[in-house]
Parts: sequence; structure tokens; C-alpha cells
Amino acid sequence: MSRFDGRIAVVTGAASGIGKEIAERFAAEGATPVIADLNLASAKATAEEIKAKSGDAFAVAMDVTNEAQVEKGVSDIIAKYGKIDILVSNAGIQIVKPLVDFPFADWKKLLSIHLDGAFLTTRACLKHMYAANYGRVVYMGSVHSKEASKLKAPYVTAKHGLIGLAKVLAKEGAEHNVTANVVCPGFVRTPLVDKQIPEQAKELGISEAQVIKEVMLKDTVDGEFTTTDDVADAVLFFAAARTNVMTGQSVVVSHGWFMQ
Ligand code: NAD
Repeated sequence: MSRFDGRIAVVTGAASGIGKEIAERFAAEGATPVIADLNLASAKATAEEIKAKSGDAFAVAMDVTNEAQVEKGVSDIIAKYGKIDILVSNAGIQIVKPLVDFPFADWKKLLSIHLDGAFLTTRACLKHMYAANYGRVVYMGSVHSKEASKLKAPYVTAKHGLIGLAKVLAKEGAEHNVTANVVCPGFVRTPLVDKQIPEQAKELGISEAQVIKEVMLKDTVDGEFTTTDDVADAVLFFAAARTNVMTGQSVVVSHGWFMQ
């Protein structure tokens, strides 16, 4: 008997990086992960990998900023499985530029993926969670939900915003046995971070090694990156909660970067 036997866990942005690890870990602990991603070919590849190892998985094409695609994806999941127990709103991007000339289109794009995406997927899943009187929602925040860094105006804004959304859902969802929490990782070596190392080096006029040591890991207690496994541990912890005892909370998983 595993913790998540019989659970249907929708993970957005699960074709890559942190989301992929979370989907794999849910599958290893008995859940059926739904890989909801912009990139359907990679989502299907991830679902096939999981099926080969640990049972069931399902891929859906979903641009989380597109209301119709989110509604369609969720109704396809309901048609197949009849319920959604867990939502991990994880899809995200990063764009690094100084605030003084941050393009408005990039600002809107980033806010839309992180905030519209969290709202639309939450709303679509919530109807089914309320009907079943059960739900666990976990938002992928960041240390940037609590702390700021240069060059990351929309990202820091969006990640702070997710904490607000989780707190509202914690209050509204409680009577339906739906909890909402935020996991806030430090830097994790995924394609999202690998892309920004040279970009930050260019913007800050320093080497890539300096970006890692003097920017990304500077405030950790041990100079270590957080891993996808570490983040998945925290997500699964919130997703497994038996009651409303932990809701509206956020936990930093970062080797000590930012202490509350
Ligand atoms: P990643 O680039 O490896 O994966 C992101 C996934 O999201 C990709 O599969 C991509 O196709 C998908 N995606 C992008 N836009 C989408 C959209 N509109 N609709 C659906 N899917 C979309 O990145 P990652 O590092 O695994 O990041 C995952 C989450 O973790 C993000 O929310 C990110 O902000 C957060 N995070 C990452 C780090 C880190 O250091 N990597 C730290 C803190 C928080």
C-alpha cells in the first residue's frame, strides 16, 4: 500500500525539470500522474517513460494560459479517470532583464504563465475537487516568493502572488477538504536555470562560474544546488496531508537561502 494509491495527480509543466520529477515520484508512490504541458510530444514521452517503470500516466496538451485548453484538458482527464485529487501548478518560465527596460510583452507573458496558469488550472480542477470533497493543491513558488533578486521583476512579482492565491484557496477550500500550499525552491539545475546562467553572466558582466557561486548559491548555507528530488519531497509532503492542518502555508527548500 503506497501513500498515493488510486490518486489522480495533475502536474503542469511536467514534461521537463521539476515537474517531471514530481510526476515520476507520484507514480512511484501509487498515483496516476497527468503530464499537462505545452509541449505534447515531450509530455507523451514522459508519460511513456513513467508507464514503462511504474504503472499508469496520462499526457495532455495544455497551454496553462489558454482558458479553452485548460478546460478541455481537465474535461479529458475527468472523462478518463472521473476525478482529480491533486493539482501541482508548476509550469513556469524565467526571463531576466533589468526593470528599466523590461519589455512589456515579456512582463505580460511571464505573469500570464505563472499567475493566469495557476488561476485557470486551479479553477478548472476545483469544481471536481469540491464535488468529491477532497483536493490537494500545491503551487510551485520559489525563494523569489519571499525574496527579490535583480533582473527578475515579473518572476518575483508572480511568485509572491502565488502565496496570495494559495491563502485565498486555503480559506475557500477548507469546507470542501481542499488544501493549498506553496513550495519555494532555491536554484535547481533544470533547463530553466541552465538557460539563465549565460544570460545573467551577460547582463551582470561576470563569468558563468561567478553567476553560480556569487549570485545563485551565495546565500545558501553550503554552496549547494537544490535538487528536483528535494523539491518533489516537499510537494509530496503537502499532497499527502490527511487534514486541513497544513494549508495556506509556504515552505522554502533551498539549502538555507532565505530563512524565515
Ligand atoms: P523547466 O523549463 O525544466 O520546465 C518547465 C516546463 O513548463 C516545461 O516542460 C515547459 O514546456 C512547461 N511550460 C512552459 N510554459 C508552459 C505553458 N504556458 N503551459 C504549460 N506548460 C508550460 O523548468 P523548471 O526549472 O522545472 O521549473 C518548473 C517550476 O519551478 C517553474 O514554476 C519555476 O519557476 C519553478 N522554480 C524553478 C527553480 C529552478 O531553479 N529551476 C527554482 C524555483 C522555482
